[in-house]
Amino acid sequence: MTHLTVLGSANMDLVAYVPKAPRRGQTVTGREFRTVPGGKGANQAIAAARAGGTVAVIGAVGDDDFGARMRRTLVDAGVDTTGLRTVPGPSGTAHIVVDDDGGNAIVVVPGANGTVTALATGDEARIAASGALLLQLELPMEGVLAGARAARAHGVRTVLTPAPAQPLPAELLSLTDLLVPNEHEAAALTGADDPYEAARLLLVQVPEVVITLGERGSLYATRDADPVTVPAFPVDAVDTTAAGDTFVGALTVAYGEGHPMPKAMAWAAAASALAVQRPGASSSMPTRTEIETFCTTVRTDEARPQEA
Ligand code: ADP
Repeated sequence: MTHLTVLGSANMDLVAYVPKAPRRGQTVTGREFRTVPGGKGANQAIAAARAGGTVAVIGAVGDDDFGARMRRTLVDAGVDTTGLRTVPGPSGTAHIVVDDDGGNAIVVVPGANGTVTALATGDEARIAASGALLLQLELPMEGVLAGARAARAHGVRTVLTPAPAQPLPAELLSLTDLLVPNEHEAAALTGADDPYEAARLLLVQVPEVVITLGERGSLYATRDADPVTVPAFPVDAVDTTAAGDTFVGALTVAYGEGHPMPKAMAWAAAASALAVQRPGASSSMPTRTEIETFCTTVRTDEARPQEA
């Protein structure tokens, strides 16, 4: 069984659904409001746990109701939250306005996530005991670097999702074993819109890259072989929130079980195809049984990786 640690954010998503987003100074009446546990760290941890990994999370929530609920959501998904500290003050929040055209506007307030600037007692041992460390960029860079350094010191594989997109310190790239950007993040990091070209440029700094391409699937590139693309499954998407986090969580579990990367990508594509057909972020992530059932029922020629 794959044992993973996720060093990352936990945010409560506060989502208001409105016909049309308000302009500055305007008040509009919304149709619906939901609070949804999210944050890229928590989402990847839940995705990996549902996909069958044993998962521990390192991060922080506030001492408010949101923090208690996010911890409960992680525990309910089977995630070990011993490394999730509760700190004084508010939890991280994402304030999201979704309009009828599906457009959104988001304000993220890091809250407790902003306190994770270093590892705490027990974190290094937690990382050292893992098969891989999953990182994203919703925590302070010092915290992300501290985790990556600990992983490298113990020979633990690091998997970095470079989101939200931002310039990356050379040290973080040098500590990354697998980089998993979506195509927009890959373009932002390299200046290349073509994912093959972006992958080629990223391989100068990291040994392995998987670029996710939305409904076009994903692309795997290493220094010593030709790139491989794996298709997505043609499904009716109703909510693609956290598709990428579901993909990374499932990918890391399958790869950790010893599957070659293209097979792990196909498994991750199945997990995210199931997730995008349901509303919600973490609540839409499939279980291992659901992923297995999906893989055995779809036509095998849809699931088979294709050479690029
Ligand atoms: P992100 O959510 O980070 O932007 P992507 O949009 O690239 O990431 O999606 C990640 C993966 O989720 C894709 O590689 C694909 O397998 C799956 N996926 C995303 N959107 C769809 C869709 N509309 N239909 C089927 N699969 C999808």
